[in-house]
Amino acid sequence: MNPKIGNLLYAGKAKDVYKTDDPKRVIVKFRDDITAGDGVKSEKMVKKGFYNSLISSKFFEVLENAGIKTQYIELIEPGYMLCKKLDMLPLEVITRNIAAGSLLKKFPFKTRQELNPPVIQMDYKNDEYHDPMLNDSITIALGLADQEQLDIIRDITLKINSVLKDFLLSKNILFPDFKIEYGFDSSGNIVLGDEISPDTCRFWDSKTCEVLDKDLFRKGDSGVMDAYVKVASLILSEKDIKKWKIEL
Ligand code: UDP
Repeated sequence: MNPKIGNLLYAGKAKDVYKTDDPKRVIVKFRDDITAGDGVKSEKMVKKGFYNSLISSKFFEVLENAGIKTQYIELIEPGYMLCKKLDMLPLEVITRNIAAGSLLKKFPFKTRQELNPPVIQMDYKNDEYHDPMLNDSITIALGLADQEQLDIIRDITLKINSVLKDFLLSKNILFPDFKIEYGFDSSGNIVLGDEISPDTCRFWDSKTCEVLDKDLFRKGDSGVMDAYVKVASLILSEKDIKKWKIEL
């Protein structure tokens, strides 16, 4: 592989991060593991890493083209993404356009209620505490970020939501909600990191409302991988499909 993959830096639930020869760059390997419920439910799904790396790369490219800074440099080959090394913030920044999932369990929203303006929620990324919902005071008191950084994160997140929502709608996909993570690059800028994939977003077919994301796995339904492949087939260009010899 070029650039050469170095030692393992960090292993997450579905991705590994490796060093490269350049201290400012890492290789993110998308694994085939799929987990839910703080990792309590865990399985392997053949080719999930392959498709999620392609889907995430596509979204990062769309965002870079819209002027949003991301950690993405290039897809070396499916499964392996070359990225800027970030110092990650332990925040799960969730944006909601349609009420679904835990929001319906915690608050009296109606199922599929439209949320306009979108709802932004930040959770503390910490399995031991089960990712509790934060507010700005708690985030600042914990020393996770300051007010200015939180305001910047909200601004970038709203822009990301607007760019991706429009892009997805043009591909006949609704975007009820998604989770993103940020980190600091070597110059101290707040940069979008992690992934954007059916593992971390809700995607619904805009014509049929068919679920095309990890909710299928959470509920124990079949056809999880077929849904991920369908997302890839809807968003990737003919050029991407030919380049990576993707079988859809
Ligand atoms: N999400 C995620 N990781 C988490 C929690 C949520 O990627 O640890 C994503 C999830 O896929 C969905 C959005 O954030 O797209 C909102 O999730 P929600 O709070 O509804 O939680 P859920 O009920 O999906 O666990």
